Amino acid sequence: MKTIFYDLSYEQLQDVLIKELKQPAFRVNQIWSGVYKNLWSQPDEFSNIPKGLREKLFDRYEFQPLVPIQTLKSNDNETEKILFQLHDQKAIETVLMKYDQRRTLCISTQAGCAMGCVFCATGQMGFKRHLTAGEIVEQVLFFARQLKTDDEKVTNIVLMGMGEPFHNYEATMKAIDLLGDPNGLGLGARRFTISTVGLVPMIKRFADEKRQVNLAISLHAVDDSERSSLMPVNHKYPIQDVMEACHYYIEKTNRRITFEWALIAGKNDSEQTAQKLAQLLEGLLCHVNAIPLNPTSQSIYQASDKNQTIKFQKVLERNGIPCTIRLRRGIDIQAGCGQLAIHHSS
Ligand code: SAH
Ligand code: SF4
Repeated sequence: MKTIFYDLSYEQLQDVLIKELKQPAFRVNQIWSGVYKNLWSQPDEFSNIPKGLREKLFDRYEFQPLVPIQTLKSNDNETEKILFQLHDQKAIETVLMKYDQRRTLCISTQAGCAMGCVFCATGQMGFKRHLTAGEIVEQVLFFARQLKTDDEKVTNIVLMGMGEPFHNYEATMKAIDLLGDPNGLGLGARRFTISTVGLVPMIKRFADEKRQVNLAISLHAVDDSERSSLMPVNHKYPIQDVMEACHYYIEKTNRRITFEWALIAGKNDSEQTAQKLAQLLEGLLCHVNAIPLNPTSQSIYQASDKNQTIKFQKVLERNGIPCTIRLRRGIDIQAGCGQLAIHHSS
């Protein structure tokens, strides 16, 4: 199995080209900007590189590690989901959302997920494996190439596809760094949002690294027994510990945190719950993203209705906590939050 080109850092490519392949230094930039600026992925596109070197590169490295096997478009044409096959036959999904001028990609960091949240289709399929940095990067490059044909660009990236990004911390951060390289796509840290189930040590590490990436925490409940019944990870990292890590993060970075709240009818959508949530978040630089639960095949839960959703929002706002109701998008193609899952052999 070949190494994926996008697993290489600039320095690693430099070492290979200069030390091993005895190439002049300018080739490093040529190849790097060919890949990350011009979005080339086929040998003949690299016409500025001598044929011999091109052959060596393509013999040694995989430039198309994700094979698209199914593309679905929502009825409103604003959401597109691609199912990709990985080299070991495992599969992941990536979603493009078009909204006004924004082109937001929702990318995966793992095939499956080990966290087992009961309302999430990915959680129900279990953990298959971590993605490498290159597999994370290629999801973005793939769509960037596709958008380029319409003169468009990826503008924002949410790490909210399959998997728990903080469970695959190193590869995720390496991918963000590669995509942010000003000599390449130049997607700066602020264009990314990482969503985590609440892995406390990693929230602290992330805070210490003072990255400018936006942070979202999936909370969904204010009470430990309730949260544990929805999200098994809460047994290990209960609400108080998560909140403490959030305070630490804000102290270190002075950045606002988003709390995600999937509204589940009769479970976490009452006005009393909203009141308790407002208390829990009091004094934190934050806002709440509430989204009526998306349907998944194995979940017994239902989404809150519009009326209840608005009541919930009003209580938070009356208590000084900004709350946005997220639109449910791409539901007709199972591309909404928590709906990504691979149903076939993988
Ligand atoms: N593993 C990370 C990121 C991927 S999930 C996390 O859990 O945060 C992205 C978001 O979708 C999370 O906030 C998650 O709680 C939410 N989610 C999962 N299943 C959902 C569903 N059925 N309806 C609405 N949101 C859901
Ligand atoms: Fe994993 Fe996030 Fe789904 Fe929970 S909600 S199972 S952490 S992907």
